[in-house]
Amino acid sequence: MQKLLFKTLFYAASILYTTQSFAQLPQDSRRPGGIAIIQLAPTITQASLNGQPVIITQENNQKYAVLGIPLSASLNQPLQLQTNKENVTIQLQNYPYAEQHITLKNQDFVSPSAEQLARYQKEAQEQTKIYQSFTTAQWQKFPSFIAPTQGKFSNSFGRKRFFNGEERAPHSGLDIPAPIGQKVIAPADGIVVGTGNYFFNGNTILVDHGQGMISMFCHLSKVEVRVGQRIHQGEEIGLVGKTGRVTGPHLHWGMSLNNARVDPQLFLAH
Ligand SMILES: [Zn+2]
Repeated sequence: MQKLLFKTLFYAASILYTTQSFAQLPQDSRRPGGIAIIQLAPTITQASLNGQPVIITQENNQKYAVLGIPLSASLNQPLQLQTNKENVTIQLQNYPYAEQHITLKNQDFVSPSAEQLARYQKEAQEQTKIYQSFTTAQWQKFPSFIAPTQGKFSNSFGRKRFFNGEERAPHSGLDIPAPIGQKVIAPADGIVVGTGNYFFNGNTILVDHGQGMISMFCHLSKVEVRVGQRIHQGEEIGLVGKTGRVTGPHLHWGMSLNNARVDPQLFLAH
């Protein structure tokens, strides 16, 4: 009887342990703009997608690849995760991203001039370089994330967007409506790798969380950190604003893994 009780308690404790620690990993959602969590054999030490290194992490003595799926991924073409041992095929599922029609008073943000386009292209190159970077993670265990500011939000990531009737790139982040001047905090530990005033994104901060996991905060009224600064989860990094291409004050929060922009909601408690 005692043995059975012990076994039951042990089982209950292990379920609790598994649930708690597993919650650190983002949610598995195999769709364009989603994330795939792939179990790896212990001998696998490297993984990449289209030549871009992919996060490898450990939970309860099990290795996992945490793979960002590009928004441009085709449903007809399974992804091939390449590792130092074997290739893993990942099938994608359809996801019904909504359409959004936005009216902007400033036509420059719909049809930028040649000069504005040149500025945007230079900024996009700077950002791509950051998204392609891959630094050693400071963490042993995948970091937990918290929302970077207070406010209600839902499923604004991935929307097919039309500005004044013209189709533009799908929305690559999550919008959190909030008043100008509200605190923006670091959702996890990291190092500031970019700050700037960008044409579309306004005042922006980019943070490296290790192994190619980059977060981005846009349209800020104030940037309170500098490049190279180490920041900790919960620390204030800036203030909500309405700079760049916006219709009102909000925080645009972006997350990128292996140079693929993914839905930030997948990192929050689920
Ligand atoms: Zn946005």
